[in-house]
Amino acid sequence: MESKDNSKICIMIIPHTEKVKRITVSKWIPKAIITSVAAIVVTVVIFFNYMSSSKLDLKEDYDNSLVEISNLKKEYEDKEKELKKLKSQNSELYEITSEVENKLAEIDKLQRQLEKMAGIKSPSRGGNVGREIKPEELETEKGLEVLKETLDDKERELEVFIDELEERFEYLERVPDLWPAAGRFTSGFGNRKDPFGKGIRFHQGIDIANSPGTDIKAAGKGTVTFAGNKGGYGKVIIIDHGNEYNTLYGHNQKLLVDVGDKVEKGQVIANMGSTGRSTGTHLHFEIHKNGNPINPLDILE
Ligand SMILES: [Zn+2]
Repeated sequence: MESKDNSKICIMIIPHTEKVKRITVSKWIPKAIITSVAAIVVTVVIFFNYMSSSKLDLKEDYDNSLVEISNLKKEYEDKEKELKKLKSQNSELYEITSEVENKLAEIDKLQRQLEKMAGIKSPSRGGNVGREIKPEELETEKGLEVLKETLDDKERELEVFIDELEERFEYLERVPDLWPAAGRFTSGFGNRKDPFGKGIRFHQGIDIANSPGTDIKAAGKGTVTFAGNKGGYGKVIIIDHGNEYNTLYGHNQKLLVDVGDKVEKGQVIANMGSTGRSTGTHLHFEIHKNGNPINPLDILE
């Protein structure tokens, strides 16, 4: 079956029934086929290996991505939690701030009322109170700082205010404007007919009549500068109020304080009587301003 031509090979196909078929092909063809097949196999193997390795890589990448995503998710959740916390802190701070502002406004209102009551006309003010807290200042830390500053300012202002009030109240306590005794108003300040029938006499005070032993009260806070007998005035108390005022209480039955005693406004200092030049049980009350007698009704409330 060898072909005469050395460059060709002969392939015989022998079926069962028919005649033998003989195909003559160039010798290089089968070699080429084998080479091609081998090349294809190598390529496939390489491709397969590549595919499987890259698949592994992909899987790894995929797994890594999953881990990363879950990390990111966790991070996001943490951040969200933080934000939530911050937000709630902020709203808490906001609540506190507005509550403090409301309280400060209330205090301001009270201050105005007290100033009015105490007759303080031009009150001095402490720090920069009344400044409003701006929303952008409400970041937790800064907001707290501003809040603290505002409260510190208010505290300083209130300290000054309380000092002023105390001074004012002390002044008012010393003004002899309290009625020194209950009773009938029997005689006013000024010229009047002498009750003992000897012409016109200047009456330096007012008379208040009541039953013997009635409480005689200090018309204002002060210090007792006289306690004893004083001619026609009988048993007398004189109080120096530490401002421009002095008060005198005459015709007492009994004196209850001594010279040097400090007395409060309203403190009982004597009992009503009729000692000295008196026509009946009554209090003779005088107010002296800078040493001169004035009409007590101008002061008494
Ligand atoms: Zn009198």
